[in-house]
Amino acid sequence: MTMIDLVDTHCHIQSIGHNDGEETTIDLWSKLGLTQEEVIKRAHHQGVNKLIVVGCNLSDSYLAIQTAQNNDIWCSVGIHPHEAKKYVNDSNKKQEFTSLVHQEKVVAIGECGLDFYYNYSDHRSQREILEFQLDLAIKNNLPVIFHVRQAFDDFWPIINNFKNIRGVIHSFTDNLGNLEEALKRELYIGLNGISTFTKDHHQKEIFKSIPINKLLLETDSPFLTPVPFRGSINEPKNVRLVAEYLASLRGESLETLADQTTSNANKLFNMIF
Ligand SMILES: [Zn+2]
Repeated sequence: MTMIDLVDTHCHIQSIGHNDGEETTIDLWSKLGLTQEEVIKRAHHQGVNKLIVVGCNLSDSYLAIQTAQNNDIWCSVGIHPHEAKKYVNDSNKKQEFTSLVHQEKVVAIGECGLDFYYNYSDHRSQREILEFQLDLAIKNNLPVIFHVRQAFDDFWPIINNFKNIRGVIHSFTDNLGNLEEALKRELYIGLNGISTFTKDHHQKEIFKSIPINKLLLETDSPFLTPVPFRGSINEPKNVRLVAEYLASLRGESLETLADQTTSNANKLFNMIF
């Protein structure tokens, strides 16, 4: 097996072995039946040497920090747009969230953004909680992990109000116009297992057209399992399958894709401490 060095820039392994993380992940991890340590070891065996555990709400972000500190990996703290309505009018919770940003191993804010597909929170709450986190990112000079679904028309005007935002549009599956808007703002583009199983030809062309110096790899595990493991629980180790698929789709060697995406991740997330 070729020796390569990959980063999973977006996984949700913090709820493995817990009951108080992000709800939808807990069931999936219990089906997998592995510990955090085992999942991380399996990733290392595939050359996935660095992981960023992404927080989706307050308790989930606490768990992300704990997971990162216990396992010498990294994490982000964030309030997902689905959760926005639970925080928007609660200044105590917001204050508590703010204090997490300074914890050791925290390298980003997110995932945060707008999700007008599911609309689990009203749009006003989603906007306010996004702005709250953008403000934190600027004040602490941290990059942002964005979740944007069917909401780019509302997302760009908000971003324009915050100068010097650095970050990644995670799980990008939108059109060429919004890819160009992201690149114009020097944002990175995160791709995952969706690239291996989408049947959408236009989507594949868009994945091919992302400049390699703006590309990041992720799993979003336990979700979005790549081919050929569809139907099983996704793990950080599978970032290697995403890398292999994209290398062949884009006509690049696996080594080139791995080297460049890992260097992009190190540049954006400063994973040195
Ligand atoms: Zn995610």
